[in-house]
Amino acid sequence: MKIAILSRNSSLYSTRRLVEAGRSRGHRVRVLDPLRCYMRISQAGFEMRYKGHALKEFDAVMPRIGSSVTFYGTAVLRQFEMMGVYTPNGSDAVLRARDKLRSLQMLAGDGIDLPMTVFGDYPDDTVDLLEMLGDPPHVIKLNEGAQGQGVLLAEKRSASQGMIEAFRGLYANFVVQEFIGEAGGGDLRCFVIGNRVAAAMHRQAPEGDFRANLHRGGTASSVQLTEQEVDVAIRAAATMGLGIAGVDLLRSRRGPLVLEVNASPGLEGIEQASGMNIAAEIIGYIEAAAAGKRAVPTGAARRC
Ligand code: ADP
Repeated sequence: MKIAILSRNSSLYSTRRLVEAGRSRGHRVRVLDPLRCYMRISQAGFEMRYKGHALKEFDAVMPRIGSSVTFYGTAVLRQFEMMGVYTPNGSDAVLRARDKLRSLQMLAGDGIDLPMTVFGDYPDDTVDLLEMLGDPPHVIKLNEGAQGQGVLLAEKRSASQGMIEAFRGLYANFVVQEFIGEAGGGDLRCFVIGNRVAAAMHRQAPEGDFRANLHRGGTASSVQLTEQEVDVAIRAAATMGLGIAGVDLLRSRRGPLVLEVNASPGLEGIEQASGMNIAAEIIGYIEAAAAGKRAVPTGAARRC
């Protein structure tokens, strides 16, 4: 097969591992910087070029599009799709997953439990909005933040109000959530490939923080998921329409809660924590799916 990896940097761990895994399974693999792909859109057909050469005869494309290039990156991915190239994570699914609010609406709509979340625009409604949520502590999250940036803990109602006012002053979109204290600063990253969880890890926030992101100093260890956690992770990825996804869960008193579904989950932490060759699993999935052997995930993604 001829496989394209859409990534801005071929030396990134995840990109490198996918290239290695693809080549060791006998495929031709090329890393393409999405910003260097340019396209012609016409009724007569689609064409895409890269540094003066036509991009053609690709069987599959694996997006590894960073959040800073979501708009252009997904346009390139869409062009590949329209040229008939298989991808496990389509452009619409990547766009949905990048919008926290939309993702939460879709997950809840499919009956998947998550931390209770409120969202509002008008300053006069803030008091009632927080009333709908319940007592603090609250977690305030920027809608388009990533890697724990823009995720803040407010211990008191007055702190929640102050942070909400500050975000509004910056014209930022945000959601406010109940704080799941019993998670103890830990979360679960479930690496979903198709209709199974290929690997999982427990991430623990550093002392004094509640955010378990590895980029913020969190530590990872292998973990045994319950059947319910496996089921929720697979359903969450399917709801978003993602064939490959990093589903983050919090362990709460009322069961697993989905925090977010990541469309470009990193491989480094999960391969180290699980000791598994996740890159090879991804390429294996792409091989089978591109050959038409696996169904595209279904769920609410079909509706919105
Ligand atoms: P990001 O997309 O920036 O990683 P997340 O929503 O995943 O943002 O939050 C980052 C981390 O903060 C999570 O991995 C988790 O450890 C912690 N966290 C997020 N939301 C909550 C919550 N409602 N209650 C408790 N901890 C939370």
